[in-house]
Amino acid sequence: MSDNESGMQKHYDVLIIGSGPAGYTAGVYTSRAKLATLIVSGTLPGGQLMTTSEVENYPGFPNGIFGPELMMNMRQQAERFGAIVVDDEVTKVDFKKRPFSITTHGEKYTAEAVIVCTGASPRKLGIDAEQQFGGRGVSYCATCDGPFFKGEDIVVVGGGDTALEEATFLTKFGKSVKIVHRRETLRASKILQDKALENPKIEFVWNNVVSDIKGDKKVHTVQVKDLKTGKEKTIKAGGLFVAIGHEPNTSIFQGHLDLDDKGYIVLKDHTRTSVEGVFAAGDVHDHRYRQAVTAAGFGCMAAIDVERWLSEKKLRKQN
Ligand code: NAP
Repeated sequence: MSDNESGMQKHYDVLIIGSGPAGYTAGVYTSRAKLATLIVSGTLPGGQLMTTSEVENYPGFPNGIFGPELMMNMRQQAERFGAIVVDDEVTKVDFKKRPFSITTHGEKYTAEAVIVCTGASPRKLGIDAEQQFGGRGVSYCATCDGPFFKGEDIVVVGGGDTALEEATFLTKFGKSVKIVHRRETLRASKILQDKALENPKIEFVWNNVVSDIKGDKKVHTVQVKDLKTGKEKTIKAGGLFVAIGHEPNTSIFQGHLDLDDKGYIVLKDHTRTSVEGVFAAGDVHDHRYRQAVTAAGFGCMAAIDVERWLSEKKLRKQN
């Protein structure tokens, strides 16, 4: 095992890329199994939950917990068992030979096994006000934030399965839900279309895109632009849910791991990727569930698979 000048190891049994629920949970399991573990946190240490407010559906917190607090707890839990967390970003990987090499902005590391937990990011509308009202009415997750919009008029953007499913879910809380879609035909499956079209609380705003969001401490109105006429109109809304798809954070793995046509990591045999010794967990491969608790579950599974694989390959040191 080689050390650098600062005393930090450069070689690890397992290197975890990403620090959402999948990455930290994997770190809890591998470090508790006495595997030398490094977690490289990425640009947003703690992942998507760092940008949400209260999390009410993570088991074990009957009164809810703030997303950043939950992630800080997970980080401390991994560190308690010896995982090292560095707040840096992986810029390059070499999975061609073992030990694998991982380059960050500040360092180069090697590891016998890697768990990729880089997650996915919700696609953004790309307008200035979107960032301004993040956490103050603009949300990317109805399951997470819907209950905070009781009695509000809500706008949902998108025409896919997520938009329609989220709009239908939001009718449980909102006074009304308007779905703003850029075309006049939906991409969503027929069953979800029928459900939304039949729902008296849902109204469609066809051929429109969101051009601006207005408010003060929270969102008050959403401005939309008709793509056919160019006319703009204002919709009263206390919440705006953007559901225009997700993008997996896999650009650095292109050409190194098998990805599907949307860029998600393809798994085989549970959490194994196309490269033996490289595993993946969480939203980086799972576009179906995308929940903190499912990502954490996948992190646990990948860590157990890594431990078994290292033992099988006799790469696990006896502690
Ligand atoms: P999606 O299928 O890619 O749909 C994204 C929607 O957002 C499309 O209607 C698209 O419009 C619109 N859009 C994209 N970029 C936009 C932009 N910049 N401005 C305005 N609108 C934009 O994404 P998804 O709905 O998240 O679904 C992802 C995957 O998960 C799909 O395979 C889906 O079937 C699956 N899923 C399944 C279920 C279920 O089975 N219950 C639930 C959720 C998701 P266009 O249509 O014009 O391209």
